Amino acid sequence: VFRSWDNPRANVYRRMNEIPYEWGTAVNVQQMAFGNSGDRSGTGVAFTRNPATGERKLMGEYLINAQGEDVVAGVRTPSPISHLEDQMPEVYNEFVEVAGRLESYYRDMQDMEFTIEDGHLFMLQTRNGKRTAQAALKIACDLVDEGVITEKEAVLRVEPKQLDTLLHPQFDVAALKAAEVIGKGLAASPGSACGKVVFSAEDAAEWHKRGEKVVLVRLETSPEDIVGMQVSQGILTVRGGMTSHAAVVARGMGTCCVCGCGNSNEVVVNYDKKTIDVNGHVFHEGDFISIDGTTGNIYVGQIATVPATENVNLQRFMSWADKYRQLKVYTNADTPRDAQQGSDFGAEGIGLTRTEHMFFAEDRIKAMREMIVADNTADREKALAKILPYQQGDFEGIYEVMGERPVTIRYLDPPLHEFLPTKEEDIKEIADELGITTERLHNVITSLHEFNPMMGFRGCRLCVRYPEIAVMQTTAVINAAINVNKKKNIHIVPHIMIPLVGEVKEFKFVKATVVKTADAIIAKAGVDMKYEVGTMIEIPRAALTADEIAKEADFFSFGTNDLTQMTFGFSRDDAGKFLDCYYENKIYELDPFAHLDQNGVGKLVQMAAKLGRESRPELGLGICGEHGGDPTSVEFCHKVGLDYVSCSPFRVPIARLAAAQAAIKNPR
Ligand code: PEP
Ligand code: MG
Repeated sequence: VFRSWDNPRANVYRRMNEIPYEWGTAVNVQQMAFGNSGDRSGTGVAFTRNPATGERKLMGEYLINAQGEDVVAGVRTPSPISHLEDQMPEVYNEFVEVAGRLESYYRDMQDMEFTIEDGHLFMLQTRNGKRTAQAALKIACDLVDEGVITEKEAVLRVEPKQLDTLLHPQFDVAALKAAEVIGKGLAASPGSACGKVVFSAEDAAEWHKRGEKVVLVRLETSPEDIVGMQVSQGILTVRGGMTSHAAVVARGMGTCCVCGCGNSNEVVVNYDKKTIDVNGHVFHEGDFISIDGTTGNIYVGQIATVPATENVNLQRFMSWADKYRQLKVYTNADTPRDAQQGSDFGAEGIGLTRTEHMFFAEDRIKAMREMIVADNTADREKALAKILPYQQGDFEGIYEVMGERPVTIRYLDPPLHEFLPTKEEDIKEIADELGITTERLHNVITSLHEFNPMMGFRGCRLCVRYPEIAVMQTTAVINAAINVNKKKNIHIVPHIMIPLVGEVKEFKFVKATVVKTADAIIAKAGVDMKYEVGTMIEIPRAALTADEIAKEADFFSFGTNDLTQMTFGFSRDDAGKFLDCYYENKIYELDPFAHLDQNGVGKLVQMAAKLGRESRPELGLGICGEHGGDPTSVEFCHKVGLDYVSCSPFRVPIARLAAAQAAIKNPR
């Protein structure tokens, strides 16, 4: 037992279940009882309630004249526990009595192992039984109804992450048993998917149109792939980490995604031949593949999936969670559809609208490109004027869904080169479309090239250099709010968020443009509207100087994806290539892009929150990085006194439950 503690399987198990390495293990030494000493002996395993459905009925199996090993090895088929009543009624009655006693003592469903030696019952072990999400909810609700536990205790009985299985399609359990795992990647977005392999977003869209179910396989995805991603059953990428484009976008859509499968496997993709080779298994375009975004497993062929279903206990259970939590839960949403989805799952606001995601649609990207190739302010403004109505329309759609709940709109963030083509044929086509020479477009692309784009010309730097972008975005935000206010007779307070600030003066600079533009529009419309201008804290320097920034900013939202990237100094898109080796050598235990690194990045968050509140006590504090939907990170956010967490729509129920558990365990 001690040796097995450090084997690779145990290490993977610990990582999956977030069990710290330092906890070690324990061994229980006890006297042997012999289940293999004749026909009045035997051994078995039983649960006090059904671990799959939660039904209150003893469930289990046993084997006569056998030891535990025989049950585990599956050489003989065990009998259902109810048969023991006929075979050895006294033993059975005693077992039923003991099982009942154990459940009332532990006040939870028990998973018990027992041995019968010569007609005597020996209990070997009991523990709180593992259970499906469905069973967990039913057992929690039943125990409250039976007067065994309180609502608060019930809230602590369901693993937040387990809720995933209720919200996404899952593989059929029986079908999965026969399937062979051929590779593994990061479990980037939960659920299960099965479909035909396609290698480009365009093919995904086309195949989908003709009624095929597809899994999109890419080296990595980019914003251009969005339409193909939307119609795919699942997304598999060779590169990338837990906050890479594919992971973030898939999570937002609620689509199954396995990322970075080439980080730890032998994987070769050939886009020309349309093949992917995973550890020697070659898939051609159109071959079936199955992937599991909850485990990261990759399978050959078709595995049947079962759709997510309504759960009768979920709403009641979540109402208890909402009663006890102190953190608000917002959603990250870029479209009215995402906003609706988040709202249906209980989001109380929007913590992040990534406006750049609105620019990639076919009808808008041209104007965006015109803006980028413009070599003077007037041309840039002309292009921006074309984008304005689209942007304003999107904001109106989001406001219509959210009403007066806070909506935080983040200004343009990515480096501009992301909007330009890379392939020669596309460059030619787009230059023609824009009415410029190929050479000119090439020059723009070259001029935008950066060795380190994530630390380059992006975020608020774009608006510092081109304030007209901030003017256009502010116009869209304020006009949209005014229109929806009028239409619905409500009072929206827009939250404008400036990204990637590292110095208070750059924030002030952009804010001046925002305020001037917003105030002029509000005055002209003759309405009385308040708005807030805040920033993301995603650069270490911003955290270090949070007291200065808070004098100017109405709110902070911790962008822990970039904050993690910049604090560790490794790329959120590429770190997967070496992180496995860090786990193997116990340098890191968990992926810092999935679970907030509380000792380092968390210290910056805590410090910035404290410094910020010292300068401005009413400062709003939230998080909108991917950690906002991770249960242990949510607990941390509760402890350091944030007001809200924001996460992708499908993680909203998880965050609500995690926030409730954090509040029950550490009331503030
Ligand atoms: C972040 O950096 O945490 C964030 C939310 O912004 P993005 O992921 O868009 O960089
Ligand atoms: Mg960021």
